[in-house]
Amino acid sequence: MAYSVEPIGFVRSCFKEKFAIPRQPQLAPAARGVLELLPPFDQGEAVQGLEQVSHVWLLFLFHEALEDKPRLKVRPPRLGGNKSIGVFATRATHRPNGIGQSVVRLDKVEGARLHLSGIDLLDGTPVLDIKPYVPYADNVPAAVNAIASAAPEPIAVQWLDAGLAQARTHAMRLGEPLVALIEQCLAQDPRPAYQKPAPEREYGARFWDVDVRWHYPRPDCICVLEVVLS
Ligand code: SAM
Repeated sequence: MAYSVEPIGFVRSCFKEKFAIPRQPQLAPAARGVLELLPPFDQGEAVQGLEQVSHVWLLFLFHEALEDKPRLKVRPPRLGGNKSIGVFATRATHRPNGIGQSVVRLDKVEGARLHLSGIDLLDGTPVLDIKPYVPYADNVPAAVNAIASAAPEPIAVQWLDAGLAQARTHAMRLGEPLVALIEQCLAQDPRPAYQKPAPEREYGARFWDVDVRWHYPRPDCICVLEVVLS
């Protein structure tokens, strides 16, 4: 039996490509976006009361990872990217029905626009539903996950002086906490776990409308080189 679902809105996000998006929400509090609601949910009635809520669950589609044939096993980055495990034991993007879920901060409700932070969502992500976070029910202090028992250890992030100056200039122009966003996302070490890059190898990702380039002067350290308009 097939069921169909329709987006209730789309996320306009600071993340313009998948690479360097944190692997879970809350890891980069400076990661901001706006959920723009579609008719008939854009008239204010559907979000009435939501201003009393600090965090929401978003159910969304991994629209850039949809596949016809479901995978039964995946190789999560958490296990080094070379060990497979059952898809239902992971939060992998490649999964049956392509549904993701994230708890994000709801900063402001502005008509049909929900201002969000701490997101891990690609720009253009279709959202299927919004539910208020209910602390007494959703927070389980005794919960155990031996595969992902704690947030990954952050890696050190340094800047070239010129790169930091560029980032500050673009932060002012955008009115966004761009320096914090870059530091919080790169501290998650976006490179695949199996890559041991030489210091001259450069990586890049796009946040908002800027391209950020960095390298690994040492395996345990990132240095941001430049932040330029895309
Ligand atoms: N918190 C969600 C969950 O548990 O369902 C997402 C976890 S998933 C491991 C996070 C990754 O999904 C991000 O690092 C990003 O690369 C990817 N991603 C985010 N939005 C996406 C989208 N719309 N389509 C495909 N991949 C997406």
